[in-house]
Amino acid sequence: MEIDDRKYVWHPFTQMQDYEKEEPLIIESGNGCILTDIYGNEYIDGVSSLWTNVHGHRKKALDIAVKKQLDKIAHSTLLGLSNVPAIRYAKKIVEIAPKGLTRVFYSDSGSTAVEIALKIAFQYQQQAEDGNPEKKKFISLHNSYHGDTIGSVSVGGIDLFHSMYKHLLFESIKAESPYCYRCAFGKSYPGCNFECLSGLEEIMSTHANEVTAMVIEPLVQGASGMLLQPPGYLKKVRELCDRYNIFMIADEVAVGFGKTGKMFTCEHEDVAPDIMTLAKGISGGYLPLAATLTTEKIYKGFLGKYEEFKTFFHGHTYTGNPLACAAALASLKIFEEEKVLDKLQAKIEHFKQRLQSFKALDNVGDVRQCGIMVGIELVADKDTKEPFSTGKRIGQRVIKEARKHGLIIRPLGDVIVLMPPLSISIDELDRLCDITYEAISLLIGG
Ligand SMILES: *Cc1c(COP(=O)(O)O)cnc(C)c1O
Repeated sequence: MEIDDRKYVWHPFTQMQDYEKEEPLIIESGNGCILTDIYGNEYIDGVSSLWTNVHGHRKKALDIAVKKQLDKIAHSTLLGLSNVPAIRYAKKIVEIAPKGLTRVFYSDSGSTAVEIALKIAFQYQQQAEDGNPEKKKFISLHNSYHGDTIGSVSVGGIDLFHSMYKHLLFESIKAESPYCYRCAFGKSYPGCNFECLSGLEEIMSTHANEVTAMVIEPLVQGASGMLLQPPGYLKKVRELCDRYNIFMIADEVAVGFGKTGKMFTCEHEDVAPDIMTLAKGISGGYLPLAATLTTEKIYKGFLGKYEEFKTFFHGHTYTGNPLACAAALASLKIFEEEKVLDKLQAKIEHFKQRLQSFKALDNVGDVRQCGIMVGIELVADKDTKEPFSTGKRIGQRVIKEARKHGLIIRPLGDVIVLMPPLSISIDELDRLCDITYEAISLLIGG
């Protein structure tokens, strides 16, 4: 199995030259928060199988929902036809989504959900009655991540992933990221008076006539290392978007479905975006599914006689797949029936207590937590915040050490990410913290 993995599979975001030299870890099964490899070794799934698996593996209600749907039909197209689970889920998600989001456009990954959001925001301006064809550009934040397709990379702000493709991308306007630990303005919250927002306002006022939308990951910039926006930031962004007549696209692909303690992260600041993207946790981590939600106003901008060509000419083959929608529907039912978010609050608090001790470790520069999403930033020098040299691969070494002790996690550079399933028990959460703490102390000293 290992030989064939090395021989045939090209892994994403992975330097295969290194991978080919290492013993691969091959997962065969899972149950709850535990993953089991082909030799029967067990591991805690410390990042929810890349931020997707919110209720744990082999969740009975999800297994049943998918099997039941399988007995009816696995796939039929949503292009010009409809299917039962896609309708039911669209109704349900609109009921619980932030106010004003009334229409659901399906796709199959976070990247496509964002791609769709961008195209909708662009096309709206070209053809809607109150559109403005000059508004063609997008604002996004430094350190942002919105996916890997060309459109979503164009609004991305992580040089390591994105700069290689710069000649393929459309231009987008970047505003400073509220990365408080390394504030671009040398300020600290709350004394900073949101200097980063003054910069954003300047950009908006200068470019209001050419910008259709701002894309933002609400509260947590996930892929750049769990960077947290200070309280009040998101609400101010909403206000600025309103002031300058710019659509707000909330990319909830990472933060949606309970990971920050509420179903949708925009709820923390009572914000309703014009467009919202959902993926990752949407199907409980079972099947690829994504949704782009829009307001009625935006939807109406696409109505007209066929020959006016206002149609949204976009759709992926597996759009609204019935199996995936059945899983997503069952996932929402679990949230409701098992009071997942109520039970989560005590776990978030416990996690917070346990993370306190990490701050005392010599090379832990910053510990960031929002709900069940955690980033532990490791630095060579705590006083100067100097990072480790890239060649040291500290993050990689920490997670390899953790793996030896039964925990699977994945770093973002030198930020150790913890993001267990919402269903994790307190005991498992303790083990996750113990193993991570030991791995960090062992590798870089306490
Ligand atoms: C993961 C992620 C995406 C991309 O999702 P894929 O399913 O990997 O295409 C987009 N936006 C955010 C905020 C993400 O975290």
